[in-house]
Amino acid sequence: MSQSDKSRFDISTRLVYAGREPSNQYGFVNTPIYRGSTVLYKTMDDLVHGKAKYTYGTHGTPTIDSLTSAWTELSNAAGTVLVPSGLAAIAVALMSCLKAGDHLLVTDSVYRPTRHYCDGFLKRFGVETTYYDPLIGKDIEKLFKPNTTAVFTEAPGSQTFEVQDIPAIAEIAHRHGATVLMDNTWATPLFFPPHDNGVDIAIEAGTKYLSGASDLLLGMVSANERSWKDLHDTWDSMALCAGPEDVFLGLRGLRTMPLRLKEQGARALELARWLEKRPEVARVIHPGLESDPGHAIWKRDFKGSSGLFAIELQPGPISGVAAMLDNLELFGMGYSWGGFESLVIPFDCSSYRTATTWQAEGPMLRIQVGLESLDDLKSDLDAGLKRFAQHSR
Ligand SMILES: *Cc1c(COP(=O)(O)O)cnc(C)c1O
Repeated sequence: MSQSDKSRFDISTRLVYAGREPSNQYGFVNTPIYRGSTVLYKTMDDLVHGKAKYTYGTHGTPTIDSLTSAWTELSNAAGTVLVPSGLAAIAVALMSCLKAGDHLLVTDSVYRPTRHYCDGFLKRFGVETTYYDPLIGKDIEKLFKPNTTAVFTEAPGSQTFEVQDIPAIAEIAHRHGATVLMDNTWATPLFFPPHDNGVDIAIEAGTKYLSGASDLLLGMVSANERSWKDLHDTWDSMALCAGPEDVFLGLRGLRTMPLRLKEQGARALELARWLEKRPEVARVIHPGLESDPGHAIWKRDFKGSSGLFAIELQPGPISGVAAMLDNLELFGMGYSWGGFESLVIPFDCSSYRTATTWQAEGPMLRIQVGLESLDDLKSDLDAGLKRFAQHSR
Protein backbone atom coordinates (compact mmCIF):
# COMPACT_ATOMS: atom_id res chain seq x y z
CA MET A 1 0.00 0.00 0.00
CA SER A 2 1.40 3.44 -0.83
CA GLN A 3 1.77 6.23 1.72
CA SER A 4 -1.11 8.35 0.46
CA ASP A 5 -3.54 5.54 1.28
CA LYS A 6 -2.57 5.92 4.95
CA SER A 7 -3.45 9.58 5.38
CA ARG A 8 -6.60 8.85 7.38
CA PHE A 9 -4.63 6.98 10.07
CA ASP A 10 -3.12 8.31 13.28
CA ILE A 11 0.44 9.61 12.93
CA SER A 12 1.89 6.73 14.96
CA THR A 13 0.40 4.32 12.41
CA ARG A 14 1.65 6.39 9.49
CA LEU A 15 5.17 6.53 10.90
CA VAL A 16 5.31 2.73 10.84
CA TYR A 17 4.80 2.85 7.04
CA ALA A 18 6.21 6.23 6.00
CA GLY A 19 9.12 6.26 3.56
CA ARG A 20 9.47 2.52 2.92
CA GLU A 21 8.32 0.28 0.11
CA PRO A 22 9.11 -3.40 0.77
CA SER A 23 8.01 -4.42 -2.73
CA ASN A 24 10.92 -2.39 -4.16
CA GLN A 25 13.46 -4.32 -2.08
CA TYR A 26 12.55 -7.99 -2.47
CA GLY A 27 10.05 -7.76 0.40
CA PHE A 28 12.55 -6.77 3.07
CA VAL A 29 10.87 -4.46 5.56
CA ASN A 30 13.44 -1.67 5.72
CA THR A 31 15.05 0.46 3.01
CA PRO A 32 18.69 -0.69 2.91
CA ILE A 33 21.75 1.54 3.25
CA TYR A 34 22.71 2.81 -0.19
CA ARG A 35 26.32 3.93 -0.19
CA GLY A 36 27.88 5.66 -3.15
CA SER A 37 29.04 8.56 -5.24
CA THR A 38 28.73 7.39 -8.85
CA VAL A 39 25.37 6.47 -10.35
CA LEU A 40 25.51 4.68 -13.73
CA TYR A 41 23.26 5.92 -16.53
CA LYS A 42 21.85 3.34 -18.90
CA THR A 43 21.66 5.49 -22.01
CA MET A 44 22.94 8.84 -23.16
CA ASP A 45 19.31 9.97 -23.36
CA ASP A 46 18.97 9.43 -19.60
CA LEU A 47 22.16 11.40 -18.96
CA VAL A 48 21.50 14.33 -21.27
CA HIS A 49 17.79 14.75 -20.63
CA GLY A 50 17.90 14.24 -16.86
CA LYS A 51 15.64 11.21 -16.96
CA ALA A 52 17.41 9.26 -14.23
CA LYS A 53 15.87 9.43 -10.75
CA TYR A 54 19.29 9.42 -9.07
CA THR A 55 22.26 11.25 -10.58
CA TYR A 56 25.04 11.47 -8.00
CA GLY A 57 25.52 10.61 -4.31
CA THR A 58 25.41 14.21 -3.04
CA HIS A 59 21.97 14.81 -4.59
CA GLY A 60 20.18 11.90 -2.93
CA THR A 61 19.83 8.13 -2.56
CA PRO A 62 16.86 5.84 -1.86
CA THR A 63 17.92 5.73 1.83
CA ILE A 64 17.86 9.52 2.04
CA ASP A 65 14.54 9.71 0.19
CA SER A 66 13.03 7.29 2.70
CA LEU A 67 13.73 9.60 5.60
CA THR A 68 13.00 12.88 3.83
CA SER A 69 9.62 11.67 2.58
CA ALA A 70 8.69 10.33 6.03
CA TRP A 71 9.78 13.56 7.75
CA THR A 72 7.91 15.66 5.20
CA GLU A 73 4.77 13.64 5.90
CA LEU A 74 5.19 13.91 9.68
CA SER A 75 5.82 17.66 9.45
CA ASN A 76 3.08 18.42 6.92
CA ALA A 77 5.76 20.19 4.88
CA ALA A 78 6.50 20.70 1.18
CA GLY A 79 9.90 19.05 1.52
CA THR A 80 12.81 18.11 3.80
CA VAL A 81 16.60 18.08 3.46
CA LEU A 82 18.99 16.06 5.61
CA VAL A 83 22.31 17.41 6.83
CA PRO A 84 25.13 15.98 8.99
CA SER A 85 24.09 17.62 12.31
CA GLY A 86 21.51 19.80 14.00
CA LEU A 87 23.81 22.81 13.89
CA ALA A 88 24.38 22.28 10.14
CA ALA A 89 20.58 22.29 9.81
CA ILE A 90 20.43 25.69 11.52
CA ALA A 91 23.23 27.03 9.30
CA VAL A 92 21.73 25.89 5.99
CA ALA A 93 18.24 27.04 7.01
CA LEU A 94 19.48 30.56 7.79
CA MET A 95 21.63 30.73 4.66
CA SER A 96 18.64 29.80 2.52
CA CYS A 97 16.72 32.96 3.43
CA LEU A 98 19.39 35.61 4.11
CA LYS A 99 21.72 37.73 2.00
CA ALA A 100 24.28 40.47 2.69
CA GLY A 101 22.63 43.59 4.10
CA ASP A 102 19.73 41.74 5.73
CA HIS A 103 18.58 42.07 9.33
CA LEU A 104 17.73 38.96 11.38
CA LEU A 105 15.72 38.65 14.61
CA VAL A 106 16.75 35.81 16.94
CA THR A 107 15.31 34.78 20.29
CA ASP A 108 17.57 35.52 23.25
CA SER A 109 16.88 31.98 24.53
CA VAL A 110 18.37 30.37 21.41
CA TYR A 111 20.66 27.30 21.45
CA ARG A 112 24.03 28.86 22.18
CA PRO A 113 25.92 27.64 19.07
CA THR A 114 23.20 29.34 16.94
CA ARG A 115 24.15 32.62 18.62
CA HIS A 116 27.81 31.96 17.85
CA TYR A 117 26.90 31.31 14.18
CA CYS A 118 24.93 34.58 13.94
CA ASP A 119 27.48 36.73 15.75
CA GLY A 120 30.45 35.32 13.84
CA PHE A 121 29.72 33.73 10.49
CA LEU A 122 26.59 35.66 9.52
CA LYS A 123 28.08 38.96 10.65
CA ARG A 124 31.10 38.33 8.44
CA PHE A 125 28.75 37.92 5.48
CA GLY A 126 26.98 41.19 6.21
CA VAL A 127 23.92 40.03 8.15
CA GLU A 128 23.01 42.00 11.29
CA THR A 129 21.36 40.13 14.19
CA THR A 130 19.11 41.58 16.91
CA TYR A 131 18.14 39.34 19.84
CA TYR A 132 14.65 39.59 21.29
CA ASP A 133 12.98 38.62 24.57
CA PRO A 134 11.40 35.18 23.99
CA LEU A 135 8.25 36.42 25.78
CA ILE A 136 7.90 39.42 23.45
CA GLY A 137 4.82 38.10 21.59
CA LYS A 138 3.16 40.69 19.32
CA ASP A 139 5.59 43.41 20.43
CA ILE A 140 8.18 41.88 18.15
CA GLU A 141 6.72 44.23 15.53
CA LYS A 142 8.66 47.11 17.15
CA LEU A 143 11.96 45.42 16.28
CA PHE A 144 11.28 45.14 12.56
CA LYS A 145 13.39 47.26 10.21
CA PRO A 146 12.86 47.70 6.47
CA ASN A 147 15.59 45.07 5.87
CA THR A 148 14.36 42.47 8.40
CA THR A 149 14.01 39.30 6.34
CA ALA A 150 13.92 36.48 8.92
CA VAL A 151 12.89 35.64 12.48
CA PHE A 152 14.57 32.69 14.20
CA THR A 153 12.49 31.19 17.01
CA GLU A 154 13.01 28.29 19.37
CA ALA A 155 10.33 27.05 21.76
CA PRO A 156 10.72 26.16 24.49
CA GLY A 157 14.05 28.02 24.76
CA SER A 158 17.31 26.14 25.12
CA GLN A 159 18.17 25.57 28.77
CA THR A 160 15.57 28.03 30.11
CA PHE A 161 12.41 26.71 28.41
CA GLU A 162 10.51 29.97 27.77
CA VAL A 163 7.50 29.25 25.54
CA GLN A 164 7.12 31.66 22.63
CA ASP A 165 3.86 32.67 21.00
CA ILE A 166 4.84 31.27 17.60
CA PRO A 167 1.53 31.91 15.78
CA ALA A 168 1.55 35.59 16.88
CA ILE A 169 5.20 36.09 15.88
CA ALA A 170 4.61 34.34 12.54
CA GLU A 171 1.64 36.52 11.72
CA ILE A 172 3.62 39.71 12.24
CA ALA A 173 6.70 38.39 10.43
CA HIS A 174 4.63 37.45 7.40
CA ARG A 175 2.99 40.85 7.33
CA HIS A 176 6.53 42.24 6.94
CA GLY A 177 7.42 39.66 4.30
CA ALA A 178 9.92 37.91 6.61
CA THR A 179 10.62 34.18 6.82
CA VAL A 180 9.87 32.41 10.11
CA LEU A 181 12.34 29.75 11.24
CA MET A 182 12.00 27.53 14.28
CA ASP A 183 14.35 25.17 16.08
CA ASN A 184 11.73 22.54 17.00
CA THR A 185 14.10 19.95 18.48
CA TRP A 186 12.43 19.80 21.92
CA ALA A 187 8.85 19.13 20.80
CA THR A 188 9.47 17.49 17.39
CA PRO A 189 6.58 17.73 14.89
CA LEU A 190 4.76 15.14 17.03
CA PHE A 191 4.18 17.66 19.83
CA PHE A 192 4.36 20.88 17.78
CA PRO A 193 3.47 20.73 14.07
CA PRO A 194 5.59 23.70 12.99
CA HIS A 195 4.15 24.47 9.55
CA ASP A 196 0.55 24.30 10.82
CA ASN A 197 1.55 27.04 13.28
CA GLY A 198 2.96 29.48 10.74
CA VAL A 199 6.62 28.38 10.65
CA ASP A 200 8.16 28.46 7.15
CA ILE A 201 11.39 26.57 7.90
CA ALA A 202 11.59 24.06 10.78
CA ILE A 203 14.81 22.63 12.16
CA GLU A 204 15.19 19.39 14.05
CA ALA A 205 18.40 18.00 15.52
CA GLY A 206 17.82 14.33 14.63
CA THR A 207 20.73 13.69 16.94
CA LYS A 208 18.24 13.91 19.82
CA TYR A 209 14.84 12.18 19.61
CA LEU A 210 15.03 10.71 16.12
CA SER A 211 18.07 8.73 17.22
CA GLY A 212 16.88 8.16 20.76
CA ALA A 213 20.12 6.35 21.44
CA SER A 214 22.95 8.95 21.41
CA ASP A 215 24.51 7.05 18.52
CA LEU A 216 24.30 9.42 15.56
CA LEU A 217 24.52 13.01 14.35
CA LEU A 218 21.84 14.24 11.95
CA GLY A 219 19.82 17.33 11.11
CA MET A 220 16.49 17.70 9.31
CA VAL A 221 15.18 20.92 7.79
CA SER A 222 11.61 20.97 6.52
CA ALA A 223 9.98 23.85 4.66
CA ASN A 224 6.54 24.88 3.47
CA GLU A 225 5.79 25.83 -0.17
CA ARG A 226 6.94 29.40 0.43
CA SER A 227 10.50 28.43 1.43
CA TRP A 228 11.08 24.99 -0.05
CA LYS A 229 12.75 25.96 -3.34
CA ASP A 230 15.29 28.30 -1.70
CA LEU A 231 16.04 25.74 1.01
CA HIS A 232 16.57 22.92 -1.47
CA ASP A 233 18.76 25.09 -3.75
CA THR A 234 20.96 26.21 -0.84
CA TRP A 235 21.32 22.67 0.50
CA ASP A 236 22.15 21.33 -2.98
CA SER A 237 24.78 24.02 -3.70
CA MET A 238 26.55 23.27 -0.43
CA ALA A 239 26.43 19.47 -0.88
CA LEU A 240 25.74 19.12 2.84
CA CYS A 241 24.84 15.45 2.59
CA ALA A 242 24.24 13.28 5.66
CA GLY A 243 26.04 9.94 6.10
CA PRO A 244 24.14 6.84 4.95
CA GLU A 245 24.48 4.90 8.23
CA ASP A 246 23.20 7.86 10.25
CA VAL A 247 20.22 8.23 7.92
CA PHE A 248 19.45 4.51 8.21
CA LEU A 249 19.62 4.70 12.01
CA GLY A 250 17.39 7.77 11.88
CA LEU A 251 14.78 5.76 9.95
CA ARG A 252 14.99 3.02 12.53
CA GLY A 253 14.48 5.59 15.30
CA LEU A 254 11.52 7.16 13.53
CA ARG A 255 9.33 4.07 13.95
CA THR A 256 9.56 4.14 17.76
CA MET A 257 9.79 7.91 18.24
CA PRO A 258 6.12 8.44 19.21
CA LEU A 259 6.38 5.74 21.88
CA ARG A 260 9.68 6.98 23.33
CA LEU A 261 8.65 10.61 23.33
CA LYS A 262 5.40 9.90 25.11
CA GLU A 263 7.13 7.76 27.74
CA GLN A 264 10.08 10.10 28.30
CA GLY A 265 7.69 13.05 28.46
CA ALA A 266 5.52 11.38 31.11
CA ARG A 267 8.57 10.44 33.19
CA ALA A 268 10.04 13.94 32.93
CA LEU A 269 6.77 15.50 34.07
CA GLU A 270 6.53 13.14 37.04
CA LEU A 271 10.14 13.83 38.02
CA ALA A 272 9.55 17.58 37.64
CA ARG A 273 6.56 17.38 40.03
CA TRP A 274 8.65 15.37 42.49
CA LEU A 275 11.48 17.93 42.30
CA GLU A 276 9.01 20.80 42.90
CA LYS A 277 8.44 19.39 46.40
CA ARG A 278 12.13 19.10 47.31
CA PRO A 279 13.47 21.65 49.80
CA GLU A 280 16.84 21.80 47.96
CA VAL A 281 15.10 22.98 44.75
CA ALA A 282 14.11 26.65 44.41
CA ARG A 283 12.30 26.37 41.05
CA VAL A 284 11.42 23.79 38.42
CA ILE A 285 11.23 25.10 34.84
CA HIS A 286 9.01 22.83 32.74
CA PRO A 287 6.21 24.22 30.54
CA GLY A 288 4.00 21.21 31.35
CA LEU A 289 3.79 22.30 35.02
CA GLU A 290 0.81 24.47 35.96
CA SER A 291 3.23 26.70 37.91
CA ASP A 292 5.29 27.49 34.80
CA PRO A 293 4.90 30.98 33.25
CA GLY A 294 4.75 29.43 29.77
CA HIS A 295 2.12 26.84 30.67
CA ALA A 296 -0.91 28.61 29.09
CA ILE A 297 0.70 29.06 25.66
CA TRP A 298 2.22 25.58 25.84
CA LYS A 299 -1.21 24.12 26.55
CA ARG A 300 -2.78 26.07 23.70
CA ASP A 301 -0.18 25.18 21.03
CA PHE A 302 1.63 21.98 22.03
CA LYS A 303 0.35 18.40 22.03
CA GLY A 304 2.80 17.16 24.64
CA SER A 305 6.07 17.73 26.47
CA SER A 306 9.32 15.85 25.99
CA GLY A 307 11.96 14.68 28.41
CA LEU A 308 14.12 17.77 28.99
CA PHE A 309 13.66 20.48 31.62
CA ALA A 310 15.61 22.59 34.10
CA ILE A 311 15.80 23.26 37.82
CA GLU A 312 17.24 26.04 39.93
CA LEU A 313 18.77 24.83 43.18
CA GLN A 314 18.69 26.84 46.39
CA PRO A 315 21.68 29.19 46.59
CA GLY A 316 24.79 27.18 47.40
CA PRO A 317 28.48 26.88 46.52
CA ILE A 318 29.76 25.30 43.32
CA SER A 319 31.50 22.68 45.46
CA GLY A 320 28.03 21.51 46.52
CA VAL A 321 26.98 21.14 42.88
CA ALA A 322 30.16 19.16 42.21
CA ALA A 323 29.48 16.91 45.22
CA MET A 324 26.00 16.27 43.83
CA LEU A 325 26.94 15.67 40.18
CA ASP A 326 30.31 13.90 40.54
CA ASN A 327 28.79 11.10 42.58
CA LEU A 328 25.55 10.38 40.77
CA GLU A 329 25.20 6.70 39.91
CA LEU A 330 22.65 6.83 37.08
CA PHE A 331 22.58 10.37 35.69
CA GLY A 332 25.49 10.93 33.33
CA MET A 333 27.04 14.34 32.84
CA GLY A 334 27.23 15.25 29.16
CA TYR A 335 25.92 17.43 26.36
CA SER A 336 23.17 16.42 23.98
CA TRP A 337 20.00 14.60 25.03
CA GLY A 338 17.09 12.54 23.69
CA GLY A 339 18.75 9.17 24.28
CA PHE A 340 17.67 6.28 26.49
CA GLU A 341 20.01 7.36 29.30
CA SER A 342 19.35 10.10 31.85
CA LEU A 343 21.66 13.12 31.91
CA VAL A 344 22.24 16.20 34.01
CA ILE A 345 24.36 19.21 33.14
CA PRO A 346 25.00 22.47 35.04
CA PHE A 347 24.58 25.70 33.05
CA ASP A 348 24.85 29.44 33.46
CA CYS A 349 23.28 31.52 30.70
CA SER A 350 23.54 34.84 32.56
CA SER A 351 26.87 35.67 30.92
CA TYR A 352 25.83 35.70 27.27
CA ARG A 353 22.23 36.91 27.09
CA THR A 354 21.91 40.32 25.51
CA ALA A 355 18.18 41.19 25.25
CA THR A 356 17.15 39.88 28.67
CA THR A 357 18.78 39.21 32.03
CA TRP A 358 18.48 35.72 33.36
CA GLN A 359 17.44 35.86 37.02
CA ALA A 360 18.65 33.00 39.20
CA GLU A 361 19.95 33.05 42.75
CA GLY A 362 21.03 29.42 42.84
CA PRO A 363 22.87 27.05 40.48
CA MET A 364 20.96 25.83 37.40
CA LEU A 365 20.81 22.24 36.18
CA ARG A 366 19.36 20.83 32.96
CA ILE A 367 17.89 17.34 33.26
CA GLN A 368 17.22 14.81 30.47
CA VAL A 369 15.07 11.90 31.54
CA GLY A 370 15.82 8.54 29.95
CA LEU A 371 14.21 5.12 30.19
CA GLU A 372 15.54 3.92 33.57
CA SER A 373 13.05 3.16 36.34
CA LEU A 374 11.71 6.40 37.81
CA ASP A 375 12.15 5.11 41.36
CA ASP A 376 15.83 4.45 40.68
CA LEU A 377 16.24 7.91 39.17
CA LYS A 378 14.53 9.54 42.16
CA SER A 379 16.78 7.80 44.67
CA ASP A 380 19.88 8.82 42.67
CA LEU A 381 18.71 12.46 42.70
CA ASP A 382 17.61 12.22 46.33
CA ALA A 383 21.12 11.24 47.42
CA GLY A 384 22.64 13.91 45.15
CA LEU A 385 20.40 16.69 46.47
CA LYS A 386 21.30 15.70 50.04
CA ARG A 387 25.03 15.96 49.18
CA PHE A 388 24.36 19.41 47.71
CA ALA A 389 22.51 20.54 50.85
CA GLN A 390 25.28 19.26 53.13
CA HIS A 391 27.84 21.41 51.32
CA SER A 392 25.58 24.44 51.46
CA ARG A 393 25.35 24.49 55.26
C1 LIG B 1 21.57 19.62 20.13
C2 LIG B 1 20.81 20.74 19.58
C3 LIG B 1 21.11 21.25 18.32
C4 LIG B 1 22.28 20.79 17.50
O1 LIG B 1 22.30 19.45 17.16
P1 LIG B 1 23.69 18.72 16.83
O2 LIG B 1 23.29 17.56 16.01
O3 LIG B 1 24.31 18.37 18.14
O4 LIG B 1 24.52 19.71 16.05
C5 LIG B 1 20.31 22.28 17.83
N1 LIG B 1 19.30 22.78 18.55
C6 LIG B 1 18.98 22.31 19.76
C7 LIG B 1 17.85 22.90 20.50
C8 LIG B 1 19.74 21.29 20.32
O5 LIG B 1 19.44 20.86 21.55
